[in-house]
Amino acid sequence: MKKEGKLIVLSAPSGSGKTTLVRYLLAKKLPLGFSISATTRNPRGKEQNGRDYYFLKQEVFESKIKENAFLEYEEVYPSSFYGTLKSELNRLWDAGLHVIFDIDVLGGLNVKKQYPEQTLAIFIQPPSLEVLEQRLYARGTDSEEKIQTRLEKAKEELSYASKFDVVLLNDDLEATQKKIYELVREFISI
Ligand code: 5GP
Repeated sequence: MKKEGKLIVLSAPSGSGKTTLVRYLLAKKLPLGFSISATTRNPRGKEQNGRDYYFLKQEVFESKIKENAFLEYEEVYPSSFYGTLKSELNRLWDAGLHVIFDIDVLGGLNVKKQYPEQTLAIFIQPPSLEVLEQRLYARGTDSEEKIQTRLEKAKEELSYASKFDVVLLNDDLEATQKKIYELVREFISI
């Protein structure tokens, strides 16, 4: 694998606003490309294969694990696997882009461990678990049971915040957008 380009990792519990921040950064005129993850979960809402995720059958995901095709992967929720394909990094680097990831906390730390110098690992901190819960309900895409699973996971994930390069408290979206834009712009211009 060619070691060129930088890696910007945004990790946070689900509902912390990280996807919104990733979209915001991608809409700016920065040389960034989104790392499309592979997952075994089913598409939600308007999600499209090859744009939001590569939706893979469990067997296909497993065979890619065996082929050592993943840079990292996690069973983020029971029976739902998510992972970054090495081919994704090459696709974006070959296009002259730095790579931005929307991945879970352990996956984010894993990327940082493999590319310590090239990676800016940002943890998006939700204002509180109550706000997180409200956001998950407001999104309306998950069942009660799924929301509870996500909240349980969020509690655990919050304890990893200090291992990231930067912790950004997302209590005011506009202010967080400005901060993250400056951080990323500076990091990729070094
Ligand atoms: P969702 O199902 O809401 O799209 O994603 C669930 C969680 O999986 C989110 O925290 C998301 O960031 C994380 N995730 C998405 N892609 C990857 C990946 O490639 N690797 C890892 N480790 N986590 C991922």
